Amino acid sequence: MDCIFCKIIAGDIPGERVLEDDEFLAIRDIAPKAASHVLVMPREHLPSLDEVGRWDADGKGQRLLDFTVRVADVLGIRGSGYRVVTNVGADAGQVVDHLHLHVMGGDRLGEFH
Ligand code: 5GP
Ligand code: ZN
Repeated sequence: MDCIFCKIIAGDIPGERVLEDDEFLAIRDIAPKAASHVLVMPREHLPSLDEVGRWDADGKGQRLLDFTVRVADVLGIRGSGYRVVTNVGADAGQVVDHLHLHVMGGDRLGEFH
């Protein structure tokens, strides 16, 4: 499959790994929009949050959120605050069609549209 995040997950192209387990991977965004900007993604390819109903029944959605909080902890921004965003589709400007949560913090974030 021609998916850049699947290639990073497989280790075929590099990514700066922050945290990983058997289900999820967190990498630093290549073009950070905050002092800390990390992308959390499931190893399993899923185009976007819109399709999460495919695997939510086994508790994977809860584990994704738990993993995301652990990422904020590892980044040292859990106490200072952070933002979690996921883009879905064209109007949100989704560029990579593999579900990922942006975790941003480390400085005061601007308001968003
Ligand atoms: P989206 O707009 O799809 O929500 O976000 C895609 C994000 O992935 C962007 O913030 C972009 O900078 C990041 N990105 C795109 N290609 C790569 C890559 O090859 N490596 C990493 N680490 N981040 C990438
Ligand atoms: Zn993928």
